[in-house]
Amino acid sequence: MSARLLDGRPVAAALRASATHRVAALLARGGGPPKLAIVRFDTAGPSAIYAAGVSRAAARVGLEPVIVTPDADSDTRSLAGRIAALGADPAVAGILVTQPVPARFEASTLVNAIEPGKDVDGATAVSAGRLARGETALAPATALAVMELLRAFGISVAGRHAVVVGRSPVVGRPVAALLLAADATVTACHRATRDLAILTRQAEILVVAAGSPALITREMVSSASVVIDCGINALDGTVCGDVALEVQQVAAAVSPVPGGVGPITTMMLLRQTLDVAERLRSAE
Ligand code: NDP
Repeated sequence: MSARLLDGRPVAAALRASATHRVAALLARGGGPPKLAIVRFDTAGPSAIYAAGVSRAAARVGLEPVIVTPDADSDTRSLAGRIAALGADPAVAGILVTQPVPARFEASTLVNAIEPGKDVDGATAVSAGRLARGETALAPATALAVMELLRAFGISVAGRHAVVVGRSPVVGRPVAALLLAADATVTACHRATRDLAILTRQAEILVVAAGSPALITREMVSSASVVIDCGINALDGTVCGDVALEVQQVAAAVSPVPGGVGPITTMMLLRQTLDVAERLRSAE
């Protein structure tokens, strides 16, 4: 048997069309395009690559990306002040602090300087706390992308056993919180988990966000498992996920890497930016 492939690209395309439509509707009501502020720390490293990708995607749907770069002599306090000022600017709907934050800054201070109402990647302690409490919250984009992929393919979550491998604040933890909020029964796994394979085999929905190529092998899934692979690993010049290709011969459904969760992630960031922008415009 061969697994159903959960292709994220058409899902992302539909989300892009919807975002474009929403921006056009906002512009028709007057005012400029909502801004997405992106704090960038390097010019050619991972922060710049991520900032460029988000910026391109934002511009493509009609949002206005604003790249914020720290001055050479800025410190945590001054940059946190600039981030807080963006929060007070009514033209700015979303604020994103790209990673990695250089060691000369205190990363948590910068992230928590984001106005929680504009925290469109769910990075602040306020957003994480709301999510953990099961309250309405802006959530990390990758975690939302997992839920969107499940929704788009009609995979029900309520009452099902979901196993999440990984507990980082960026992916594993918020995915577990979102699955729990959607009434799944959730098992959270990490490096200290004993007998990982016994747990993963029980999963009706298995979400993997470990950053470890081929961590999940065919023996670790069942024929009923829906497997969502969040991993992005560079291996021998190619990109692969955390789930071995052979899993596609066993599981009921698998999201591929590349092409599964990845394409949807940026769209979730833009969707939350538009949610904020629409709220701000209605409050004017
Ligand atoms: P982290 O390194 O921050 O966290 C990895 C988590 O996986 C940790 O909780 C760790 O456990 C757990 N883990 C690692 N190895 C094992 C193992 N052998 N058995 C059980 N648990 C394990 O990574 P991130 O959460 O930031 O990212 C995870 C993956 O997702 C990466 O490949 C990353 O590139 C990708 N990613 C994808 C995104 C997307 O848009 N698709 C966005 C962000 C990340 P412990 O806590 O015990 O150390």
